[in-house]
Formats: sequence, structure tokens, C-alpha cells
Amino acid sequence: MNVSSRVVQTTCPYCGTGCGVEARISPSGAVEIAGDPLHPANYGRLCVKGSALAETLTLEGRLLHPIIKGARASWREAVDLVARRFRETIEQHGPDSVAFYVSGQMLTEDYYVANKFMKGFLASANIDTNSRLCMASSVAGHKRAFGADIVPNVYEDIEEADLVVLVGSNLAWCHPVLFQRLEQAKARRADMRVVNIDPRRTATSEIADLQLSLKPGSDVALFLGLLRFLERTGRRHAAYVDRHTKGADNALLAAQDWSLTKVAAATGLDETALAEFYEAFAATERTVTIYSQGVNQSSAGTDKVNAILNCHLFTGRIGLPGAGPFSVTGQPNAMGGREVGGLANQLACHMELENARHREIVRGFWGYERVAAKPGLKAVDLFEAVGDGRIKALWIIGTNPVASLPEADKIKRALAACDFVVVSDVMAETDTAPFAHVQLPAQPWGEKDGVVTNSERRISRQRALGPAAGDAMPDWQILCSVARAMGAKGFDYAVSADIFREYAALSGHLNHGERSFDISACAEISAAAYESLRPFQWPWRRGETAFARPKRFFANGGFFTPDGRARLVATPYRPPQSRTSAAAPFVLNTGRLRDQWHTMTRTGVAPRLSQHVAEPFVEIHPEDAASLKLQPAGLARVSNAHGAVILRTLITDRQQRGSVFAPIHWTDQHAAAARVDALVAANVDPLSGQPELKASAVRIEAW
Ligand code: SF4
Repeated sequence: MNVSSRVVQTTCPYCGTGCGVEARISPSGAVEIAGDPLHPANYGRLCVKGSALAETLTLEGRLLHPIIKGARASWREAVDLVARRFRETIEQHGPDSVAFYVSGQMLTEDYYVANKFMKGFLASANIDTNSRLCMASSVAGHKRAFGADIVPNVYEDIEEADLVVLVGSNLAWCHPVLFQRLEQAKARRADMRVVNIDPRRTATSEIADLQLSLKPGSDVALFLGLLRFLERTGRRHAAYVDRHTKGADNALLAAQDWSLTKVAAATGLDETALAEFYEAFAATERTVTIYSQGVNQSSAGTDKVNAILNCHLFTGRIGLPGAGPFSVTGQPNAMGGREVGGLANQLACHMELENARHREIVRGFWGYERVAAKPGLKAVDLFEAVGDGRIKALWIIGTNPVASLPEADKIKRALAACDFVVVSDVMAETDTAPFAHVQLPAQPWGEKDGVVTNSERRISRQRALGPAAGDAMPDWQILCSVARAMGAKGFDYAVSADIFREYAALSGHLNHGERSFDISACAEISAAAYESLRPFQWPWRRGETAFARPKRFFANGGFFTPDGRARLVATPYRPPQSRTSAAAPFVLNTGRLRDQWHTMTRTGVAPRLSQHVAEPFVEIHPEDAASLKLQPAGLARVSNAHGAVILRTLITDRQQRGSVFAPIHWTDQHAAAARVDALVAANVDPLSGQPELKASAVRIEAW
């Protein structure tokens, strides 16, 4: 080791596990990456994506200067133009004619400033985030059941459980370090059991004692049957249900017909396997249910979440060591964005737009005459409004909607018709960039500085490893520059710590214990303490001692509903909205691969990450492939009324008949006709607005 190397402790920018990273930087500038041995998310572990972070620190493809209509510009010119166009649009058409579409890649400080700008200074709530595609159903489910958006448990519970139920989660590939923790715990404890509920057999299935390959989208039926089984086998935790909940009777009423036979018919599972799962769940006090995008990305996503929460509330298995429901977030800061109001229907610090008292608290704290008075447009609706001209000026920050939103070709048409589009990104050429009137260079991981929150409510610092390249600026600073140019007060932050202090103060401001997100202990944090801040879990209230043992919620009630009781929710079963037909007889499921991240702007530059899977593919059952005359490693055209893609065929019985899988990562930047989200219908959950990315009807032909 070179003695003059310096070590920067930071956080991985990929999945919601939120692993701590140590970057060792030599005097020559070379960077070595290792897991932070003291970070409670990973204790030194990293997956292959995290390990390859140093290889992504390249200027290849970076956007390094502002660009106006294809030509390099100064920051002054770019900021003045954006401010003028947003101001003029609002003057002519009102505040709801502009919108921000932001990202779970943003740091919490960026998110807070973007929200203050839109919901405070501009008094519109037309700001939504790509976290809408990731976690919105969990947010809505948590709020319905708990009265607040809270993950009740901590990572240790996954290791301490006797039964781990995975639902719609390929943990092995999408949260690899959490999977490693589960694997190692199972290797230590012979009595630990794992049930994997997923239409596909995946890498995660290899750890499962029981694999339930249910029909796509039938999870609610499965958990209705479980609730009924728990009732009939005397597993109601009467004291907990009576003292801490409401709604059990209604939830049971919705479940009363869901016999094993009926569940088997709806899910396609055999009754013996179903009974084995139900008996294992009923008999095991220390049960953790981990769920992710297979649950959230559904037109019944919120009901799926509540169907799972019902079973845990009914048995009192929540917030206890080794027992509870556990939503694992997809993005590195999906949780942090929610904390500061990143979604169009939220206010900062877990306050609610529909709540007049909350609006008044936020308005008074920010010192504006008014704040947004009604929820803004959620992602899919927001782009619908761009397409039909209601939104005339749009600022896209850190995300690539032309590749990632449903009906992605329609997004192209919407952006092409929009009067004014601003794109802040770290990369110069993305699928969305050609539609930008102004491109603004943002700082990537390794240059920016702030905090993120992982799936167990742990806030960690992301720190810069060195100076910014070119003219790149932090997202919060870009937003502040435009806000000030529009005449806004309250955007004079010098460093990210100033923003952190402000929202920490707001989290405790006039908070009489009614809000869950409270980190008011950080409201006066010094610059030095912010710089050296170690990972901590919220809440961390003023006067509390820092870094106590893991913080769980709800073992003894204490919900954030007006009466302090959780709600069990009746969840009638609805199949996926997109129905198969003779013209489109297959169900397309989309998802991530182990070694890539989103649209590959970062992971795509690390050669070793492309060795795992080199090109886009469609995974299909051998009998379906034979009936379509598809050849192994041949090409297939996958299409429907929304679009078409050409993919390599991967023929495998991991896939069940009638459904296919394709990864989300490739875009038209990598290969012609590779954006699978062009095929996804824009069907959304009615409560969360989250699109159904896991079940679109498609047609497949040999190509
Ligand atoms: Fe990064 Fe997630 Fe891998 Fe951890 S598990 S190193 S957070 S991608």
C-alpha cells in the first residue's frame, strides 16, 4: 500500500442495499475500491457492480459543458435561458404548465432543493421522479397500512429470520449483498428456510427450499389465501390485532373464498406446494417477507403490498427481530427522495400535500406566500401532459425517460412536441438528450457530495473523490442557480451541508410526534460533523443519542394513523391489466441483470461488467420456442401495438410457458430496436401511479 494514499468513505450509487465503499486514491489519482468494513449495510462486502466502480470513473461520453441547441454555452447563458423560458411559460400558462422529472440517482440534498423550487417557489407539485417506477406502490401500501411510509425492519432481521419469503425479488442479482447476507445466514443455520415466489426461476431460486412459480401478477390471490389460512389455523395474534389494528374483519371478508383450490386456479400453483408454503408461514414466528419490483411494478401493486402487510399485521409479526415485511428499494436513493417529498403527491419530511396543516408548516418554514395546494402529475400522467401540450416546459434530471418509461416511443413523440426541454445529465449522449433544447452537465458519483438513504432507513454520506470534471456542477447547485435567476429567495446554500441542516430542521419543526421521518438531531450539525458523519438510521430525534441499536417500528403498535392503529386492507384480486390475445399471446416481464445498472450509462463503460451478458435477449420456455420455430441464440422480434424490439433468444425452462423475460438495460444507444420499455403498456396502479412493467402482452416471431 502506498503510504500517501488517501481513503474516502462513500456509498455505492447502484441498488437500494446502500453498501458502504472505501475508495483508496493514490497520489497518481488511481482509485481502488473496497467494501467499507464498518458500514452496517455490507460490513465490507461488495457485489461485482460495486467492485467495478473505479472502472466507471472515466470522462468517456461525459457531458462537460452546458449546451444550447447543440452548441457549447456558458453557465450564465444556460441558466438565464432556462430561467427565462420557465418564467415566461408560467406567466403565460400558469405554474402547472411546467414540470420537473427527476431521479432516484439524485442525492437527498438535490431532491430537497428540487422540491422546494417546484412546490415552494413555483407553487406547483408537478415534480415526479423515476422512483415512481420503483417504489411508489410500497409508499402507498405503507401509508394505507401504517399511516406513514415506513419500512419497519432492519437488515439483521433477514439473517435472524427462521423463514424468509421472497416475493417478486431476484435478490441474488438485484440486491446481491443482501443476498450474500441471506446465503451466509442460511449456511450457518440449518433450520432456516427460504421460499421464493416469482413467475421465473432465477439465481435467487438456487437458495430456495420451495420455489413457487406463480402466474404473472397473481400475488394478491396467493396472499388472500394465506390470510384465510392463518385465520382458519388460529394464527391471529388477537392481542396485537385488537389493540393495534383496524380492518381485520374486512380484510378477512375479502379473503373468505380463497380456498387452496381457488388460489391454485388463480396462481397456477399446485395445492401441495401452496399448502407447504402456508403451513411454513403459519408455523414460523420469525418470518421476514422481502418484496420488490415484482410486487410494486403492477397495476395492483398497492394491493399486493397490503395483502402482504395484512398477513404480518394479523400475526403481529412486524418490527420484531427476525419478523416483518421488508420492501427493498431498487434505487440508491429511492428512500431519500421520499423523505424530502420527491413524489408529486408528497411534501418534504413525510408531510402530506392534502393536509392543510402540513402545507402551512412547510410554507411557514420556507417563508413563501404559498406552496403547492394539490398533488401534481405522476410520471405517466406527467408525460401524457407533455404530449398533449398541457406541460410546455420540462426539466429532466438524471434519468432517461425515452428508454425507461412505458410506451417509450410515445415519450419520444411527447418530447419532440414540447416547447422547451432541459436535460441535466452526466452523459452527453443518451436516448433523451436529442430532445433537449438545453443540456446541463451534472456531477456523477465520485464528484458529488451529499447523503442517500438505503432500504433499511440508513442515511449514509456519498462523498466526492476528487474535483469535478469540466464545468459539471451538483444538481442542487444547478437548481439553485436557476431558482435565483427567477428571483427566488432561499436558494443561497454554499455547500450541501447547508441543505442537509435545513431539511433536518424541517423534519422536527412543529412535529409533535406525528411524523415518522425526524432527523432533527442533525439540524445544527457542524460542517466537520457532516463531513465525518457515519451511517445512521432514522428517526434520530433532537436530544437522542446517536447510533443506538437498530431501530425498528411497530412491534408495540405506535402507527402514524390518527388513532395510532394500523389498517388491514381488503384487497380483492385483480389480474394484470394488459390481457393476452391471439395477436399478443405472451406476457412480457422486464427486469435487471446482475452486472448492469439501468440504461448502462455507467456500468456500460466497465468491460468486465459486459462479460456476464453481452447483448439484449428474450428468455423463453423451450416448448414456446419450438412452437414459434425460434432457434437457440437466434433472433426474435417482440412486438405489440406500442412498439417492437429485436432480441437474442435464450431458451430455458426457467421461464414458464406463456411468459417471457427481457432485461431493461439496452437502449437505442447500444443496439437498434432494443428498448424493451417501448413494449410496456402505460397501465398504472390506481393509487400509486406505478406502471405495470412486469406484465405486457406481446407477440413473438422468429426474425
Ligand atoms: Fe452496490 Fe447494491 Fe452491489 Fe451493494 S449490492 S455493492 S449497493 S450494487
